[in-house]
Amino acid sequence: MLVVIVGPMFAGKTTELIRRVERYVIAGKRAIVFKPSIDARYDSSKVAAHNGLKFGAYVVPPDEVGVETIGKLGLDYDVVAVDEVQFFPPRLADVLNELADGRVVIAAGLNLDFRGEPFETTMRAMAFADKVISLTAVCKVCGRPATRTQRLINGAPAPKNSPRILVGGGDSYEARCRRHYVRPA
Ligand SMILES: [Zn+2]
Repeated sequence: MLVVIVGPMFAGKTTELIRRVERYVIAGKRAIVFKPSIDARYDSSKVAAHNGLKFGAYVVPPDEVGVETIGKLGLDYDVVAVDEVQFFPPRLADVLNELADGRVVIAAGLNLDFRGEPFETTMRAMAFADKVISLTAVCKVCGRPATRTQRLINGAPAPKNSPRILVGGGDSYEARCRRHYVRPA
């Protein structure tokens, strides 16, 4: 079974992924969580969950090597979860689809980049999915459900020609609804 959790930033995708993994761990299943090395938000070796439950968090490079690693190591587990799938090449979706024959695979990823364009890997995973969970954030402008991610540079919408993935730097992100999302010019 392949479950894909999608939505903008600040929608709680990682929380939902971990919540689902925890339930399988409580049920006695062997689980592993992969995340791309680009994402330093949670600590690198182990995710310590509530109730003293632990499962491995394996950091892999967001490239073909990382995809191969997930495909190989994933075989030894009942539950394979991958966070931030949009950072990986689209072939990750095919690897997850194969792993999903005989085990539970949970993938979380951003739906759209700051330009409002779909992330290929998330889109491909959604197409293979048995279940898609679409989460919303809260629009920073009006407080209604938000489905989009606005990138801001010094408070203004980032121009279209800025790189798709920025790590660090002076940019920031806000969740926005369809009405308040400003498509970069
Ligand atoms: Zn709004």
